Amino acid sequence: MFSRSVKAASQRLTQINRHIQTRSMSYQGTTFTLNTGAKIPGIGFGTWQDKEAQEDAVYEAIKAGYRHIDTARVYGTEPGVAAGVKKAGVPREDLFIVTKLWNNAHHPDDVEKQLDASLKDLNTDYVDLYLMHWPSAFARSDELFPKDGDKTKTGDTDYVDTWHAMEKLQQKGKAKAIGVSNFSKSELERLISKANIKPAAHQMEMHPYLVQKSFADFHKQNDIHITHYSPFGNQNAIYSSGQDIGKLIDDPVLVEVGKKYGKNGAQVALAWGLAKGHTVIPKSKTPSRIKANLEGDFKLDAEDVTKIDGVDKKLRFNDPSGSFGWNFYSDLEGKTS
Ligand code: NDP
Repeated sequence: MFSRSVKAASQRLTQINRHIQTRSMSYQGTTFTLNTGAKIPGIGFGTWQDKEAQEDAVYEAIKAGYRHIDTARVYGTEPGVAAGVKKAGVPREDLFIVTKLWNNAHHPDDVEKQLDASLKDLNTDYVDLYLMHWPSAFARSDELFPKDGDKTKTGDTDYVDTWHAMEKLQQKGKAKAIGVSNFSKSELERLISKANIKPAAHQMEMHPYLVQKSFADFHKQNDIHITHYSPFGNQNAIYSSGQDIGKLIDDPVLVEVGKKYGKNGAQVALAWGLAKGHTVIPKSKTPSRIKANLEGDFKLDAEDVTKIDGVDKKLRFNDPSGSFGWNFYSDLEGKTS
């Protein structure tokens, strides 16, 4: 009896603490609901690149208030994410952790093994969302990039077969939800027509220079949640296309809109994604930017969303078709090669 009332009091205290925290936050704490019924935080934390910096970055992010972390087998940042999470000391159930199946493990017999390796590195027994990173298979290999001479050796596993293996992982509870990344419309339509479990989410390049309205509408009609990767577009140092047009976050329209709210261009790019009902996953290893990006979680007026839609350049920064041996995004905007 006594222990039950202590437990109830402690739960109430946790609720009050969360309430106080939310009220004093300089961001909204936006969440969306996946087709599984689970909530996904609107702003997540990207961890691609700067592998050595990720333990501290993830710790800073969680301390600042992020509760959604995005990683992938191929980034090599799963151990850094685990270390940052541990240091931050937030309960696992308060976090939304996403990782991705890499192209070397598309064969149905390899899928669970690779998720198990990710779970081990992430020091958890489930992920909230498991994504197929690309529709394209590489040859089965322990190497992330199996080689055929100086080219990547491709495989012949159909992504539909890979998907069926991922469905089993959701049924087993190792992945609370499953989804895809970098699919074209026709690839996604084909997957939906063959799937037993519809993808919960699609992670793709999307930002004010690559708006893709009709593709976004297609996802809404199919109840598939969109996550914007590279929400700042050409900020990423390894992207070469479009560097000459200047940085997206310095775009005059974004900067001008930001003045109305006391926000910068980066924060406006994030708020624009949230206004569409999409999740955004900015990456930064810089503590001040980590905090500032979370404050991109604010409400833009509809007229400003429309203004930002107008800066669209149909400009895609990430298209590895040449090196992965697969013609990506064939029916999408921003396809140049
Ligand atoms: P982003 O658009 O998030 O840009 C990251 C770059 O912007 C970094 O160089 C960072 O610098 C800089 N930056 C961050 N915040 C600010 C700011 N407020 N002002 C100025 N500069 C800033 O690019 P990413 O490509 O990293 O995308 C985000 C995440 O999306 C990835 O980390 C990854 O998790 C995911 N992703 C998924 C892909 C997929 O195929 N599914 C592909 C690409 C990304 P610094 O770190 O030095 O602060």
